[in-house]
Order: sequence, then structure tokens, then C-alpha cells
Amino acid sequence: KKTITRLPEWLKTPIPSNQNYKKIKSDLRGLGLHTVCEEARCPNISDCWGGSSKSAATATIMLMGDTCTRGCRFCAVKTSKTPPPLDPHEPENTAEALKRWGLGYVVLTSVDRDDLADGGARHFAETIMKIKQKAPAMLVEALTGDYAGDPDMVKLVARSGLDVYAHNVETVEELSPSVRDRRANFRRSLHVLRTAKETRPNLITKTSMMLGLGETEEQMWHALKELRKNNVDVVTFGQYMRPTKRHMPVHEYVTPDTFELWRQRALDMGFLYCASGPLVRSSYKAGEAFIENVLK
Ligand code: SF4
Ligand code: SF4
Repeated sequence: KKTITRLPEWLKTPIPSNQNYKKIKSDLRGLGLHTVCEEARCPNISDCWGGSSKSAATATIMLMGDTCTRGCRFCAVKTSKTPPPLDPHEPENTAEALKRWGLGYVVLTSVDRDDLADGGARHFAETIMKIKQKAPAMLVEALTGDYAGDPDMVKLVARSGLDVYAHNVETVEELSPSVRDRRANFRRSLHVLRTAKETRPNLITKTSMMLGLGETEEQMWHALKELRKNNVDVVTFGQYMRPTKRHMPVHEYVTPDTFELWRQRALDMGFLYCASGPLVRSSYKAGEAFIENVLK
């Protein structure tokens, strides 16, 4: 099997320099927030933090520590069966810091915590409730794990006051067993998304897929149909990038034209909006997309 090592032109990115981005970055110092944007050195940081206006500026915050109980084959987050305990002050401190930061749209995400009886759902929901108390105008997207398939935990988060419930299927059904941790699976993820929507039908539900893992066109159609059947509103597509040599190899670098084709197909199938491109991550310019497509 061939391994591709050279990056195509479209994945080489310029260094961020946007003024707005610089201002937000200096504001962030001292707030004690862990942004995925900075820690993962995301190439989209000036697009997201800059935004078209401050009300559209988007950042992604990592909750519940930096150590995951799962080990997906594409993911660079460190793994342990027994991560350190949760910080009980995190919900309050995160909400306070976000209020001071004052951005328009926050994506909250977390590692998976299979070591906790509730998977961390209460902690996650409490953080959302505190943000909505302190900064009611801030739009909140939660990108959660599958809570080991427990629908009560999904309902708890769905009722916490958030605007967008995101959970990633990551890849097509057929590749799921070889890409994701063995405790995750495509059907269970569909169920998470469906449960969130049934709990609060006015919630926007969202999922993300990586392309370039060897998925076929037919498998993609199948995955998208299943997502629509479960009333998933939004889908995003990005290129899988191998974090280190210990992670699964890239099967192919999908061209920008193919990403555009899938974006069109997704819209034709009835998804409310779709971000799709080689550098797109599930939170890519999520604030701008929400304002343009949901609040308009
Ligand atoms: Fe941050 Fe996500 Fe935007 Fe990257 S795509 S800068 S992680 S909000
Ligand atoms: Fe990474 Fe999420 Fe998988 Fe944990 S569950 S290894 S954070 S992708």
C-alpha cells in the first residue's frame, strides 16, 4: 500500500496576520482558557478568530482536561485509562473568561471520559448553563462524545441551553471500525444525533467527516443519506491529516474541486449548510455560518 508524504500546494498555508486575530489573541492571555485553535496550531485561526465581525468570531475551547480515555487512530490527544479528576471550578471559570473575552460563538469540546459514571455530561451541561447565564448573547455549540450510547446523558446536554449540538461520525460507516476507537461506532453516533434533535427539535445538529481515509463515493452517499434520515442539519468535510507516524496514514489528498462537489451534493440533499475544504475543521467559521444560515 502506498504512503503519501508530500503535501499538495493547497494544504500549504500562510501564517496568520489578521489584525482582529492579533487583538483577540492578546485579550486571551491571562484568561486561562485552553483553545484547540492555539494548541492544535489550527491553520484557520485568523479566519475564525478574525471573523467578519466580533459577533461572528469563533473559537474552540477544550474542557475536562487534556487526556482522553479513548484512542482513535487519527487523533493526537494523549490517552489514559485514568485521567486526572475534573476541575469543579471549570464551568464557572470558563463562563467568566468567555464573558470577558466577548466573542460571538464558542465551540465547547472535550476529551471522552469513559472513566466517569456520566461521561462528564453534567460538567459539560453546567458549563453551558453558566455561559448562558453570564453571556446570554453568546452562541454555544457543544461538540460531545457519544456518552457510551446513554441517551439520558445526550438529553442532559441537549437541554442545557446550547444552540448547536455537534457529534462527529468522523468517517463513513464501513471505515468506522478501523478509524475510530473500538467503543465508538457509526450507528451509535447517529443515535446520539437523533436523540439530541428529538429532545429539542429547534436545536441545530451537526456532524463532521474526514475525507482522504479511503472512503468510496458510494460509501459517502450512504453516510450522508443516513445522516439526513436522522435529521442532521449540518455537515462539514475536511482532509484527514496524519498527526504523527504512529497514526494511520493518509490514503489520498482530496482535491479542492472534490470538496466543492461534496458541498454541493450535501446542500442538494437538504443539509442546511456545509463547510467543505481541505483545511476545514468541524468548527471552521461556525459563527459566521450560523449567523448567515440560521439567524438570517
Ligand atoms: Fe479554532 Fe476550529 Fe477555527 Fe480551527 S477551525 S481556528 S480549531 S474554531
Ligand atoms: Fe481523540 Fe476524541 Fe477519539 Fe479521544 S474520543 S481519541 S479526543 S477523537
